[in-house]
This record gives sequence, structure tokens and C-alpha cells, in this order.
Amino acid sequence: MTYVRYSVPIHPAPNRAPHPNRFKVKIHRLELAKLLVRELIEYRGNLDTVLSRPCVYGVFSSPVGGFMAREEYCVGCLRCTIQHPNIIDILPNPDRLELGDTYIDPDMVETLLYEAASGRVPVRGAGYGGGFGGAGWDGMWTDMSEIVRPTRDGIHGREFISTSVQLGWKPLMLEFDDRGDLQSSANGLIELPMPVLFDQLPIPDSSAYAATAAGASTLETLAIVPVEHLNRNLSKSNSVVPLVEPHEIKRLHNQGRSFQMIELMGWDAAAYAQLSTDYPNSIVTIRLPADADLSEALDAGVAVFHLVADYHGQTATGFIMQAIRDTHENLIARGIREQVTLIGSGGIALAEHVPKAIIAGLDAVAIETAVLIALQAQFQGEVRVLGAAQIELPSTDPEWASQRLVNLLGSWRDQMLEILGAMGLREVRRLRGEIGRAMFQAELEREAFSEIDGYK
Ligand code: SF4
Repeated sequence: MTYVRYSVPIHPAPNRAPHPNRFKVKIHRLELAKLLVRELIEYRGNLDTVLSRPCVYGVFSSPVGGFMAREEYCVGCLRCTIQHPNIIDILPNPDRLELGDTYIDPDMVETLLYEAASGRVPVRGAGYGGGFGGAGWDGMWTDMSEIVRPTRDGIHGREFISTSVQLGWKPLMLEFDDRGDLQSSANGLIELPMPVLFDQLPIPDSSAYAATAAGASTLETLAIVPVEHLNRNLSKSNSVVPLVEPHEIKRLHNQGRSFQMIELMGWDAAAYAQLSTDYPNSIVTIRLPADADLSEALDAGVAVFHLVADYHGQTATGFIMQAIRDTHENLIARGIREQVTLIGSGGIALAEHVPKAIIAGLDAVAIETAVLIALQAQFQGEVRVLGAAQIELPSTDPEWASQRLVNLLGSWRDQMLEILGAMGLREVRRLRGEIGRAMFQAELEREAFSEIDGYK
């Protein structure tokens, strides 16, 4: 046996569709011309001085300088407009503000595009300028105390931090029969090198599913694909998890092969029993709303659940984070948390959402809208209410698309390593349910302000 360290094959995969610049550089040309004439006189025709540019980023370095600004280079430092307020205005680009929707804002879109194009961790040298709390995942803060950093630098490979997770029923102890022969088995567990799967997508696009299947295969993870999209190529992939409605089991049989994992839409005892019998070597996962009661399925022996919220992370009872925490704690109360696997999806759209979802109680996450953004899909409205016709993919090149997804998850894994290293954790499995590593804004505010009149 040879030890092979897991690594993600990252290669540049630049954007294919045009992407709006961050800023509009508005030049008052008449004022600029006046300035040039004035300076020509003042500096006695010294062209070096007159043609010097106020922007080190090259925005005014086209052959005609500021008369045709290169807006794509503008970083919004405002140096130029402070020096020449009557000539230059730097404005937010309205086209960029249209990106994403009310959950995935333009900054998130740009972050995802950068990750998908480069596979690198986005770093902003100017520091974080946003809010320190908010709705959804922003209501959880992670505790990365410097004092617990024995494993930092995992991202650079000097010390190994495991990001692998196991899906399936995990026996708590080994069991032996009267003759001493081992009865329990760890067979049937699926080990993934990172806790991220590709989920069913908001658009029924076969080329997008081809990309998730190919990306999952390269990353050694799984791609959930509705059974109606299992064409000849996809059905050969070992990374594909068919998603079936109870009435579609016959369609699955038509594939004529087995799968590592099969996902059943909703709880249906008869369909679950049939799938378990027909596919004894496959893990059968049940896809349920994130706030569903799992009791009946647990009693029937289901070991892997996929808990789903909408694309903005909303369930009937609120944001998915609380639903995960409740389910995780219910399983602990039943004494079976270690055996059961929870996968979650809905509203997990940035790298930092993954460790936060795992802290809330998931074993692994599945992503969908982030996949579409990585492929430069354009949303014409709110993604959670959009029809397929309102989501456009710019390219169907399978090689480019799968590399974008590989890059995306390569970047997310590096960011996970950063967080685990900063927390002093050597494996992501120890992060699951580790709420001692998190602070919740709502709880802290309640503790601090609940005795003050007027606090709600
Ligand atoms: S804002 Fe900064 S980067 Fe943009 S044009 Fe002005 S000087 Fe250049």
C-alpha cells in the first residue's frame, strides 16, 4: 500500500462570460481638457508632468488617458477623486449591484467567481469593512482563539489536518458472537475526503449535472443527480447519487447498476424498504425538510439523512441553522448521534458557511446555488422562486465547468483548513456539534440586554 496525501488539482479556469466592473469611472471630459491645457501652460509644456496619471492601478493609462478610462482596473481607492473632485467621480456599477439575489449579494458572487477561477483563498489586504453580525450564518461567530493553535499551518501542508468524513451507520462498538467471531462491520460506510457534496441544482440542465458529476469524481466526493438526468455518461460515474421519488424506483432499476448511495425524496417506508432490499450495497439516504421529525425513519433504521432548506436557508420554522441544532440535539438525546449521518443543504453558499453548518451539527453539506454561480449563471430575480428559464448558464464546456467546481471546493477546503488550524482541531469530524467553538449573536444579545426595558 502507498500513502497518498489528498490534494485538489487546481488549475486556472478564468471567467467565460463578461463580468461587470466593480466601479464606474465617470470623467468630466471638458474639465479634464481644461486641466491639461492649464498644466501645459503652468509646466511650460513639460509632457512628463502633464501626462502623469493620478492612478497607480492603470485606470488612466490607455493611449488617450482619462478620456477613455480602463474601468476594469479600478479598485475604488478614491485617490483620483480626492485630488480632482471636479473631474472624476467613482460610482458603484449598477450592473454589478444586479448580481445574485437578496441572499447571495454581489460581494458573495465575486468571492465565488474568484474562487472558481483561481482555486485560491480570497484575501483582501485592506481588512474587513463589513458588519460583525447579521442574519443567517452571520449570526454565528466562530472562536479562533490564538492560544489553541497547535495545528496551524495545515493549509501549507506542514501539519496534516483531516477534512474527511464518513457517511453511513457507524457502529459504536465491535460486537462478537459466542465463538468470538466479529459480528459488526464498518462496511457500507462511504468516506469522503471533504465534507461537501454537490446537490440537486435549481435548473434541470444536463450539462450542469455533467459538471457536478465530473467535479465530484475528481474531488472524490458525490453529486446528487435526479434520476431523470442520468444519461448514459452520468450513469457510469461512481460519484453520482441518484435522487428518486418513491414512484421512480423502476426508473432507477432501468440503469442496470448499483450506486454507492441513493437518495430517496421524502420519507416513504415501503420505498425505503424496497430500495434497501434491491440495493443492499448502497446507502439509502432520505431527503427531508430540515425541520422534519426524523423519529419514524430512525425507527425504521435509516442512517443517513439529507436535511434541506430553501436556497436562502429558510425552513418553515426559520433559518436552517436552528433546525440543524435541534435535530443534532434530538439525536444526542436519543443516544444515537454518533451512528447517524446528517447532510444539509440550503443557504450554504460561502466557504465559511461549511464549518458553521458543521458546528451547528451537520456531518457534511451539499451545495447548489454556489455551483451555479461558479459556472457564471445569471439569476433574473430571487433564486428560490426562479424557474429554470430565468437562470442562464454561459458555457456548457464540460472541462471548464468541472474545473471551476474543483477550484471552488479546493479554495473552500483550504479555508476550512485555516479555520480548523486556528481552532487547534486536527480533523473536521471533531468540529461537528462543537458549539463551544461558536458564539451566537442572538444568544449573546439576549444575555446582555434582556433585562433592559424595551429589549425584544
Ligand atoms: S479610485 Fe483609485 S483605482 Fe480607481 S481610478 Fe481612482 S485612483 Fe484609480
